Amino acid sequence: MRIHLPVRPAILARHTYETPAEGRQGKIRLDFNENTSGCSAAVRIALARLSAVKISTYPEYEMASHSLARYFGVCPEELLVANGGDDALRAVFDTFADPRREVVIFEPTFPMYRYYAEITGARIRALRYGPNMEFPAAEALASLRRKPRLLFVTNPNNPTGTLVPKRILARLLRKATHTAVVVDEAYAEFSTESIVPWIRRYPHLFIVRTFSKAAGLAGLRLGAVLANRESLAFVRRAMPPFPVNCAALIAGVAAVNDRKTLARYVRGTVRRRTWFARQLHLAGVRVFPSAGNFLLADFGNLGPLFFRKLAEHGILIREYKILGPGFARITVGTQSELEKLLYLLRRTP
Ligand code: PMP
Repeated sequence: MRIHLPVRPAILARHTYETPAEGRQGKIRLDFNENTSGCSAAVRIALARLSAVKISTYPEYEMASHSLARYFGVCPEELLVANGGDDALRAVFDTFADPRREVVIFEPTFPMYRYYAEITGARIRALRYGPNMEFPAAEALASLRRKPRLLFVTNPNNPTGTLVPKRILARLLRKATHTAVVVDEAYAEFSTESIVPWIRRYPHLFIVRTFSKAAGLAGLRLGAVLANRESLAFVRRAMPPFPVNCAALIAGVAAVNDRKTLARYVRGTVRRRTWFARQLHLAGVRVFPSAGNFLLADFGNLGPLFFRKLAEHGILIREYKILGPGFARITVGTQSELEKLLYLLRRTP
């Protein structure tokens, strides 16, 4: 029997590299920008209370949406929950992207924008961050002349840590008359700069948030799109009726209600980020300013040997060979995790 599998050309042409994500348990996980302190105890208590009836019932979203919307300072109609930030981004793509129509991204960045653009068969216009990892504002503004369907700004950006000033975002939004502007604020808690309130001013602004980072729920998959209610209604049409499971919802509500734990983790991470950057700098490593829960660093010639040593000791980091052989992004983990890494750095000749 000969079968012709009718795979879409865009899928056949896809080539984005997918990072290995298996076998990480028991290691020091400084490679995925997770909250390595773990989620709040309140989350585990809430999950333990999940009843058999609740688990066997399709999820309802209204109550949870109220709590989550309150956390972001928006109305429930301005929030759409999704199965992680990844799924939130997919929904935006499904709403606006079309084959051969342009999507603007800024690289190096989170690979999912390229990934979804490739799946759609959209035309990718990739602009690059500058040599000091600065946002290419002039090129970004110029790219809008071609009326791309979508423009993605990651703020702060992963892996560079770059924070785009609000005045640049405002200029982009004013110029983007035919473009949906997506601002991915996955790490906004660590930058303390969010433009969520602007969704009332700009109907073409879509903000993507996640509970995987500050809230520490990466394993449960919970994310959101925030936008003006009329604009968000279009994105809702690209969503299945039950995009998020009841455990993720309950965990999300418990995490945002335990504001103290969330704030403590964010405060601690920001403090350790400054300390860790200073330690790397003192060790002769080039560190880029970061507004996220991670640092991009260039270890130069020492890089490959040091990275091998880290791997041998079960410390995972993310190498960025495309930026140079010594480049890596390191999550700001706990104090003891970072000290272990620094100990090995000092022992690398
Ligand atoms: N956006 C950015 C910039 C990210 O770095 C990530 C995760 N690494 C996400 C979105 C998606 O996170 P998640 O799917 O876990 O919510």
